[in-house]
Amino acid sequence: MITQGLTTVTRCEKCGRPLTLELGEYIERGRVRWSITGQCTGCPHAWCEQGVSGPTATRIRDALLAEHGPVRLQLTNPEPNPVAVLRALRDALHLPLPEARARATTLREAGLVGTRVEMEFLAEALRRRSIATGFDGPPVNPG
Ligand SMILES: [Zn+2]
Repeated sequence: MITQGLTTVTRCEKCGRPLTLELGEYIERGRVRWSITGQCTGCPHAWCEQGVSGPTATRIRDALLAEHGPVRLQLTNPEPNPVAVLRALRDALHLPLPEARARATTLREAGLVGTRVEMEFLAEALRRRSIATGFDGPPVNPG
């Protein structure tokens, strides 16, 4: 399973002792999902949340990008079937057509940048439509 995560320590809101936070992204049932697990080292305070989008997704994504760095996904064939690329991106990301078109253009010209899990997810969607991709593009500049 393609997954990426990180562990940080914060302060427990109940007792003030260190609380371990595990953040992660993974692929399940055809979607990129996030999860966050909190476990206090000093009291029984613990929880687990999961989802597919929203503000928590953004926070986890930013933390993963800061920790592991972004990945660039590129087409290895410069002239792929444009309709197949568009379909793959639409299916994978549930995007309206104009947005999917914009992503397809970015993918063709510069490559798409995101977390490892997100890019592996797109690579798999493209592979299902016989479009080859690779991660070995130019180095990615953070920010
Ligand atoms: Zn606590």
